[in-house]
Amino acid sequence: MTTAHAWAAPAAHEPFAPFTFERRTLEPQDIRIDILFCGICHSDVHFARAEWGDPHYPAVPGHEIVGRVSEVGTAVTKFKAGDLAGVGCLVDSCGHCHSCGEGLEQYCETGATGTYMSVEKQSGLPTYGGYSDYIVVRENFALKVGHDEANLAAAAPLLCAGITLWSPLRHWKAGPGKKVGIVGIGGLGHMGVKLAHALSAHTVAFTTSPGKVEECHRLGADEVLISRDADQLAAHANSFDLIINTVSASQDLDMFAKLLKRDGTLVLVGAGTEKHIAPDAFTMLMKRRSIAGSAIGGIAETQEMLDFCAEHGITSDIELIGVDKVDVAYDRIVASDVKYRFVIDMATLPTA
Ligand code: NAP
Ligand code: ZN
Repeated sequence: MTTAHAWAAPAAHEPFAPFTFERRTLEPQDIRIDILFCGICHSDVHFARAEWGDPHYPAVPGHEIVGRVSEVGTAVTKFKAGDLAGVGCLVDSCGHCHSCGEGLEQYCETGATGTYMSVEKQSGLPTYGGYSDYIVVRENFALKVGHDEANLAAAAPLLCAGITLWSPLRHWKAGPGKKVGIVGIGGLGHMGVKLAHALSAHTVAFTTSPGKVEECHRLGADEVLISRDADQLAAHANSFDLIINTVSASQDLDMFAKLLKRDGTLVLVGAGTEKHIAPDAFTMLMKRRSIAGSAIGGIAETQEMLDFCAEHGITSDIELIGVDKVDVAYDRIVASDVKYRFVIDMATLPTA
C-alpha cells in the first residue's frame, strides 16, 4: 500500500479538507496515474452531500480524471510511463457477464466497481475518487487521451459528462435527419449539444435560463427553447426523434413525451432523488413513444467518444479552480451558476 493525498468531504455539510488514505500496491495489470485535472460532476455533489445515501465519510469524489502514467505493472501492454491517461466512473467489473461481454461494463450484472462509492475487489477497501494526487487502476479501465496538453483540463469532463451523452446519442442513432433535444444545459447538457451537433443531428437545447440562449447557439444548437414556456414547447409537438433529459430535479415527463414523434424516445440521465411526474398512458400509446434511462457508457464507447472529440477539437467549457474553491463550486453548481463545468487543477492539492 502507498499513501495518497486527497481533498475530502468530512461530513455532509462540512467544508472539504485534506485527507490521506492508502491505495493498493500495483498488481501486474495496474497502472498508476498522477492526476493533473479532475472535473466536478453534479454526481459528486449528490455523493458528498449524502443525497444518494451515506457515502462513508471522509468521502473523496471525482470521476472525470486526466493525468500522466507514472508507473506500470509487469503485465501492462497499453500504457507506458509518461503517457496521458483518463479514468471515468468505472474502475472494474466482473468481465464475464453478458453486459461486460458486450463492452457495457456500466451495466455489469454483478455490479461494476465505481471510481468512488464502491468497494475495491483487490483490497476490500472503499474506492476513493479523483480529488487526489494519484490513482491505481487496471489498464483496461484507463482511457487514452489524445487531446493537446493545452486542452487537458477541458478534456477531463469528457470522462463523465461527455460519455453520458455520447452513449445514448449513439444508441438511439442521433445523426443527419434526426431531431434531437437536450434538456438542461449544465455540465452534461452542454456536452450533449456539442456532440449532437457534431453528429449532424438537428439539435435543440431546452433551458430554464434565458441567459443561456445565445450561448446555446454558440455551443451548436440549431434552436433553443425556454423549457418553462408552454407555447414554445407546443410549437414542437410530435417532432423529436430523441430527447435526452439531464435535469436532476423533478420533471413533467408528459410534457416532454408529447414532443416526441411516433416511435421517439425520451431518455432520462439526470440522477436526482425526487420522483418525476408520470406521463399520461395515452401520450405514450397513441404514438408508440418510449421513455428510457441511460447510465454513463462502457469503456470501448468511452474511448470512441474521446477519439472522436480529439479528432473534432471538442472539449468542455470549463472554469478551472483550485481545491480551496470546491465548496463554493458545489454551491454554484446547485444554483446552476457555472458555464459549464468546474475542473480542479490538482497541482493545488496540499501534499505536505
Ligand atoms: P448540472 O451541471 O448542475 O446541470 C443541470 C442543469 O439542469 C442545470 O444547468 C440547469 O440547466 C438544469 N436545471 C437545474 N435545476 C433545474 C430545475 N429545478 N428545473 C429544470 N432544470 C433545472 O449537472 P450535471 O453535472 O450536468 O448532472 C445532471 C444530472 O445528471 C445530475 O443528477 C447527475 O448526478 C446526473 N448524472 C447522471 C449520469 C448517468 O450516468 N446517467 C452521469 C453523470 C451525471 P438550465 O439552466 O439550462 O435549465
Ligand atoms: Zn459524473
